[in-house]
Amino acid sequence: MRVHLTATAAAAVRRGHPWVYRDGIAGGGESAVQRGERRRGERAPRAGGAAATGDVVELSAEGAPFLGRGLWDAESAIAVRVFQRTQAPPLDERALAERLERAFALRDGWFAGRDTTAYRLCNGEGDRVPSLVIDRYDRAAVVRLDGGMLAPWLDRLLPHLARALGARGVRSIGLRARASSAAGGDAEGKKLAHLHGPPLPDRLFVRETGVAMEVDLARGQKTGAFLDQRDNRARVRALAAGRRRVLNLFSYAGGFSVAAALGGAGRVTSVDSASAAHASAQRTFRENGVDPAAHDFVTADAFDFLEKAHARGDRYDLIVCDPPSFAPSERAKPRALGAYRRLHTAVARVLDRGGLLCAASCSSHITAEDFLATLDDATLERDDLRVRAIHGQPEDHPTLPAWWEGRYLKFVVLE
Ligand code: SAH
Repeated sequence: MRVHLTATAAAAVRRGHPWVYRDGIAGGGESAVQRGERRRGERAPRAGGAAATGDVVELSAEGAPFLGRGLWDAESAIAVRVFQRTQAPPLDERALAERLERAFALRDGWFAGRDTTAYRLCNGEGDRVPSLVIDRYDRAAVVRLDGGMLAPWLDRLLPHLARALGARGVRSIGLRARASSAAGGDAEGKKLAHLHGPPLPDRLFVRETGVAMEVDLARGQKTGAFLDQRDNRARVRALAAGRRRVLNLFSYAGGFSVAAALGGAGRVTSVDSASAAHASAQRTFRENGVDPAAHDFVTADAFDFLEKAHARGDRYDLIVCDPPSFAPSERAKPRALGAYRRLHTAVARVLDRGGLLCAASCSSHITAEDFLATLDDATLERDDLRVRAIHGQPEDHPTLPAWWEGRYLKFVVLE
């Protein structure tokens, strides 16, 4: 099957961008597949026309008979994920298994030892295996497929996965459907299906840079935890020494909270709208030998909490603010920037002079510069802070130079 691209889409593919949106197909949509076939004159168009989800397609453009090879998705906005720009080898499960093995082998070197037992084994596009994300939680691995194109491949890939992961001590493999892809809403989308090995535990403790962390595989966010903040949690641990009062907004399972407590903070206040997240955070505190009773867990809307804290005159000397993505799309960007500004204005009001603010954004549509503009003097209504560091995601979340969407995490430390 052949897919003919517009000049713009072809240029992106040449740069190494792994996505072709439906409007990047010359003539638009599935009919272009047929048109591409006819152009080549190799065979008559298939009865019924279009390629099926998961089919290998060859990409071409004006003046470029072969641009690369990818997998077709008949439904999602991304019509093709591009796997290779060379003619050989063929794009089959062997080629995919080899790429996966390479991704796993890299991590063997990064996470030798038992200090960190939860990390991303394969970051999809960033590991040149578009659509396929695999997170490791000690002896369990959770697979997530972005888009539908790899679903028809899963049965064939599973024996390779089981072998390669088994050799590394992973016994169970599960599949986490994407929340956003579920037509029927959250609950269904978050189901964890069993793929291989003994049943996956509903929840378990993993280790992250030496710190124990409870992960809820059955009901947690993402594939269970926000593994992308691992290095930033270690940074907060180091920054927390000697801090009297720490505030962790959008605390989820308390990763930043326990890091601050272990780093020597006096009292840590965790704020999240989900009370189940606090129950998990408290188990994590205990597992690390920290008494949760010496800290505060507040179930509240972060904006409400900040307003009340300010009214009470509460002040903090270290604040971590890591909200959910405010900008799921480019269109949502102006509203998202407004929300970040409102949040940061409210945060700055409860930050002590001399205090540290760690502000995070996990939206790829918000660039680092966009995000910094929501932390400027006018927004924070003060002029005593400097940007001490700007961090991003850890090395087990690699990206590609042309794949800017993959570099979504910003973690700005202001002091
Ligand atoms: N910092 C966390 C990840 C945060 S995820 C970590 O490192 O693991 C976002 C969290 O924000 C979720 O737990 C969600 O329950 C919470 N949340 C979403 N909207 C909120 C709001 N308006 N107020 C407080 N918490 C909110």
